[in-house]
Amino acid sequence: MPLVRALAAWHARSASDTRGRLAVELSRRGFIKLSGAGLAVSSLSALGFGFAGAALAASVRSFKLEATTETRNTCTYCSVACGILIYSIGDRAKNARSNIIHIEGDPDHPVNRGTLCPKGAALLDIVHAPTRLQMPKYRAPGSNELKPVSWDFALGRIAALMKQDRDANFVARNAAGTRVNRWTSTGMLAASASSSETAYVTWKIARAFGMLVFDNQARV
Ligand code: SF4
Repeated sequence: MPLVRALAAWHARSASDTRGRLAVELSRRGFIKLSGAGLAVSSLSALGFGFAGAALAASVRSFKLEATTETRNTCTYCSVACGILIYSIGDRAKNARSNIIHIEGDPDHPVNRGTLCPKGAALLDIVHAPTRLQMPKYRAPGSNELKPVSWDFALGRIAALMKQDRDANFVARNAAGTRVNRWTSTGMLAASASSSETAYVTWKIARAFGMLVFDNQARV
């Protein structure tokens, strides 16, 4: 029995070593390319076309995402928070503009294991949509026009209005004199696809203000 156990342990160890080495030496993309070319060459070799097989392998078009930059991210839509892989072209030089050309589910992500729902699968269209809002807009009092403004202006304006409203409406004690520290006239709409850490900090800030109205876009 000890011999059987020792053999099982050795087998498990060598299998995990092999997996580790493969993961380091061969990327997923490289593996697909290599196995595709290898299959074609070995099939032709089996038919007696050794040189033709080599020529075919040399002419295999490189994988279309090979020259792209792969970035891991989270789908922006709902609180499932599926992992995505974003592929962009551009050499990351400061004077070059990157362009996202493909988005797919992250097969290594524990939430979705590479799958995406139809909304997530259409993320690329959102990125390039001409109607996509890319900067804050401000409608001045009395105006009927929304004008693009800088983030500095928008955040400063939000902070000033929050303070003004909290100073006017904060309730420290209820009618019975019990301390309640409530601020009910302003609410926070947070992002459902935030990381746990971001969600924790957002929650702490909202509650520290005494804010009770708190939700995210997944429920709207
Ligand atoms: S892919 Fe679909 S299910 Fe996953 S986070 Fe995006 S919207 Fe939600």
